[in-house]
Amino acid sequence: MAPARDDYGNDTVMPAAFLGHGSPMNALENNRYTEAWRAFGESVPVPRAILMVSAHWYINASAVTAMTRPRTIHDFYGFPPELFAVSYPVAGDPALARRVAELAEPMWVGLDHDSWGIDHGSWSVLVHAFPEASVPVVQLAIDATKPFRYHFELGARLAPLRHEGVVVIASGNVVHNLGLMDGRHPDSGTDWAHRFDEDARATMASSPATIVDASRHGDFDMAVPTPDHFIPLLYLAGLADAAGTGAEVLVDGYAYGSLSMTSYTLGVGTVDAAHR
Ligand code: ZN
Repeated sequence: MAPARDDYGNDTVMPAAFLGHGSPMNALENNRYTEAWRAFGESVPVPRAILMVSAHWYINASAVTAMTRPRTIHDFYGFPPELFAVSYPVAGDPALARRVAELAEPMWVGLDHDSWGIDHGSWSVLVHAFPEASVPVVQLAIDATKPFRYHFELGARLAPLRHEGVVVIASGNVVHNLGLMDGRHPDSGTDWAHRFDEDARATMASSPATIVDASRHGDFDMAVPTPDHFIPLLYLAGLADAAGTGAEVLVDGYAYGSLSMTSYTLGVGTVDAAHR
């Protein structure tokens, strides 16, 4: 696979991101989070493909979608019909799926030809970041049986994709406690949510490899009662560590007391410099 070339013929290192997706309703809304996701998409050189790591494909193995036309999956209930009507009619990229499996070795990543597709962890942000649905998308599952270090290392193994025209976007939420959501506070966070999110931010900025120790944090059990939405951050941490740099905050905030909406980018400034 040829490396991506920018306008000047140089090797372009594609940015990567972790986007805090929050409620699926963000797919239909325009707010400062969705505007930030859109700004990220617009800041990126047109990618060959997008690799999504979604909190919502949380299974007992690592797998990638390998079909040519992944379907839009509405993996939730109790939301209005408009949300079930959202479609993200994008092409898949079977060659990229095989490349992910190859880069992961000796870790095993299975090729999914018919079971999954593009779930709302992916499309709720993609409808804003890449609204044209013109760039092929492959989605990577999260292996629920593996420790944090596995996901960090798999993320690091995907680093060559950034030189092959692929934008890697992980989608989850750093603080995600659905059981403690409080509808009276749609735009604020509890003290423990702030503490955990701010410490994660410091770690991602200065020493992303140590994010694998997050379970030692005093607020971990409240912030991360289940690891599904936190784990996507480990993939960006792996990519950041492989690049020898920290991640930058794209947008931040809190929702319903017990969710943080912090999003991170990696390498956006590098691209800007390359195009200057
Ligand atoms: Zn979610």
